[in-house]
Amino acid sequence: MNIVIAGAGIAGISAAETIRAADPKANITIFSQERDRLYFRPRLPEVVSGKAPADKVYVHPDSWYREKNLELRLGESLAEVCLDNQQVRGSLGSRQTYDRLLLATGAESFRPPLPGADLPGVFSLRSLPDAVNLFYAAAKAQEAVLIGSGLLGLEIGYALTLRGLRVHVLERSDRILPRQTTPKSGAKLLGILSKIGFEIHLKSQAAKAVGKDLLSGVELSSGETIPAQILILATGIAPNLGLAKALGLKTDRAIVVDQYLETTLPNIYAAGDCAQSLDGFSGLWTISRLQGLAAGTNLIAQERESRVVYKPQPPSSVLKVAGVDLIAAGDLDPEGRLNGVEAESENSYRKLTLNKEGLLVGFTNLGTMAGTRELTEALGQKILTDDLLADLTRLDFDFAKIKALRKVN
Ligand SMILES: Cc1cc2nc3c(=O)[nH]c(=O)nc-3n(C[C@H](O)[C@H](O)[C@H](O)COP(=O)(O)OP(=O)(O)OC[C@H]3O[C@@H](n4cnc5c(N)ncnc54)[C@H](O)[C@@H]3O)c2cc1C
Repeated sequence: MNIVIAGAGIAGISAAETIRAADPKANITIFSQERDRLYFRPRLPEVVSGKAPADKVYVHPDSWYREKNLELRLGESLAEVCLDNQQVRGSLGSRQTYDRLLLATGAESFRPPLPGADLPGVFSLRSLPDAVNLFYAAAKAQEAVLIGSGLLGLEIGYALTLRGLRVHVLERSDRILPRQTTPKSGAKLLGILSKIGFEIHLKSQAAKAVGKDLLSGVELSSGETIPAQILILATGIAPNLGLAKALGLKTDRAIVVDQYLETTLPNIYAAGDCAQSLDGFSGLWTISRLQGLAAGTNLIAQERESRVVYKPQPPSSVLKVAGVDLIAAGDLDPEGRLNGVEAESENSYRKLTLNKEGLLVGFTNLGTMAGTRELTEALGQKILTDDLLADLTRLDFDFAKIKALRKVN
């Protein structure tokens, strides 16, 4: 059987690994736009901070691809698919017929249309070369501005603070990480970040990047200019849909796939950041890997009935922001409509939200992981007595009490 895979990221390589384990004879050809073999994208901030040298983030050594007998065409994109004769053409001219095709083309950084964004000194971080360029640029810089204060942006900003830079974060809202914080946890997080080299500008928006031949600063819509030698655009990702659109596949935010990860054309599958499965579009490493594994099994299934169903994964609420633990689950009720029980110390904060019926509908932990498992298990249940609620205003609350009560109920 001839299998062709477009994209050698975690989704594409996980699929290839599964296929090879099940079928030692299948011909597996992998086209890769990037010149680097698979590396851990989530470790790129470590390359920027200098914690990990660039050659230490590869997932497999070169020899692994030979041992698995995978034909990896680094630096050659899959340029065209001809449906009539089931043949693909690579950007360097090679041709290959396929029985099954996997699109694992991932995503790229989304760059907003900001005036001046083409100046040297303006970066986004998606690939290993991006990380290496940023590593070298940081050596000559003192100040950086970050647009997009989501988790990825803050991770990149944190890497730059570790290099000794002052990092200005522009946040449109009136608190940092507005979807994962309450006013109190947002303020506490802001305090923690300010101590380690961040300067957070709330209710602020960039108007343009300024500089003559090189970035020298960022002008805000208020008219103020922040001097900076680096501007990071961390404003989300855009799935690579070029091939899918040329093929006429159904796309929404990404390539629409069914429970088997099959696209709207038979024998063509999609997985990872370029795919939109039944649980939506994830943009996550772990999910891309799971989708790649499932797609691999389905690509070589002889009978359609023997394919495996890809099961949607529950969203994870455990985050790490610049080295600080943050858990945000369910309704955090930042507006204070419901009954909130809070506990806090200088660097930690916990809030439980109970609805009018007394059910636990959400909670958050900042700077502590204590009680995360017990509270996650108790979500949606009415397990908290008045005594316990009073006790829960102490950060050192013994969560075994909640577990014991759940057993009784
Ligand atoms: C800095 C950073 C930090 C992250 N941190 C986390 C984290 O902490 N946790 C987490 O879960 N996720 C994290 N992610 C997200 C995670 O890395 C991605 O979800 C994952 O890499 C997606 O894998 P993929 O194989 O679908 O796509 P990709 O990794 O994007 O790989 C797709 C590959 O296909 C190539 N390609 C595109 N078009 C073609 C074509 N026509 N022909 C051939 N090749 C093509 C692309 O160039 C790319 O090499 C992070 C991402 C970044 C950038």
